[in-house]
Amino acid sequence: MADGFPDNRLPAHGLDADAVLDRMHELRVEDRDWRGGRVFSLVYTAGDDVLDLLKRAANLYPAENALNTMVFPSLGWMQHDIVTITAGLLGADRMPSDERRGVSGFLTSGGTESLLQATKTARDWGRSERGTGRPNMVLATSAHAAFEKASHYFDVESRRIPVRADFSADVDAMADAVDDDTVLVVGSAPSYPQGIIDPIVDLAALAADRGILCHVDACLGGFILPFLGRLGHLAKPWDLAVPGVTSISADLHKYGYASKGVSVILYRNRALAGLQPFITTNWLGGLYGSPSMAGTRPAGPIAAGWAVLHYLGEDGYLALAEDAHQAATAIKSAIEGAPGLALRGAPDATVFAFGGELDATGPDTFALGDALAERGGWFFDRQSPPDSLHATVHAGHGAVTEQLVTDLAAVAGELLVSGAQAEDRRATYGTI
Ligand SMILES: *Cc1c(COP(=O)(O)O)cnc(C)c1O
Repeated sequence: MADGFPDNRLPAHGLDADAVLDRMHELRVEDRDWRGGRVFSLVYTAGDDVLDLLKRAANLYPAENALNTMVFPSLGWMQHDIVTITAGLLGADRMPSDERRGVSGFLTSGGTESLLQATKTARDWGRSERGTGRPNMVLATSAHAAFEKASHYFDVESRRIPVRADFSADVDAMADAVDDDTVLVVGSAPSYPQGIIDPIVDLAALAADRGILCHVDACLGGFILPFLGRLGHLAKPWDLAVPGVTSISADLHKYGYASKGVSVILYRNRALAGLQPFITTNWLGGLYGSPSMAGTRPAGPIAAGWAVLHYLGEDGYLALAEDAHQAATAIKSAIEGAPGLALRGAPDATVFAFGGELDATGPDTFALGDALAERGGWFFDRQSPPDSLHATVHAGHGAVTEQLVTDLAAVAGELLVSGAQAEDRRATYGTI
């Protein structure tokens, strides 16, 4: 270990602050360098000015606790603002005014927590409204892994229905899977794996028909689809304005370009929203209420999220959405034009999967990923099935698009000739 930094134990004597920070810089050497725009996963950036603002906003709240907004009212106001602004973006503004007033929601720590809450709310709704003892939810195989976590945590059976050949949810097959114990139907806008917006109108109608709940997972799309729509790059309906959608989630820490740790979940009406918070007096510490999973909650991400929404504003987000759209469009057409390469389905926005043609005439997809990493330091997550590389394109990628397009064509051509196969076949998204 470095001088003065003992292995695996607390130093007997505190170290100098600069030495501690220097050591952290050393530890980071192997971290992927996303600043140059060659990472197409996990990170969303909108420029140095935004990053600087996020740091300054979070720095105002190094020790506060969002567990109690009576002690820190500013955190209550900021959360309220974020929820209200998000509701406007996600369709509340297009609902009839009596319905619009009922839309309510909460902040969570991220998309996973939002989906956990949506599932728990549906389970509790089933218990109280239907007396459902063994609840299930019906969702496409493309819906996010966090629903499996929710299924496991809350004992709600997950009925996964295979997607259609275009990777969209198969509404007819999902309808067949709904039974008297189904409490929730799920659609994605767009799906994480292939970036497809499911037929939300049909899924929500299916749920409404059966009198059950419908969650739209817009964790990925919530802060870019509204702007792509206004720019004329998207026509599919997907949000809370679609009749039958009863809840929706959107991650401010993705295309909202906030610091990690903020997502929003919205419910169509107060009765549903009221099922989410937890309140107890059954201990010796007094009335304890909390809106989501965590007790103590960090204030920094809330502050940074509030700051970035106001700093960017509608025109800022429109410009960023246009940049991301142009970069994604250029990369998608390069993939379609490259020998042996193909997109997986017809992705609706700025997130997509690609690889060698699935009829086995194309190059090995994982070898393609390895070759791109070697040639230009390009980093795409691997996923399967089917073997694919995954790209989340954000505003910061515009600067490197041309180089990527060149490298893609070159690497695809070389692999078709060499026929190289990757030995390591693992596909990893989250790690333990
Ligand atoms: C990212 C994502 C999630 C999970 O969000 P986390 O913030 O990683 O917990 C859920 N659904 C979709 C569609 C996502 O893209």
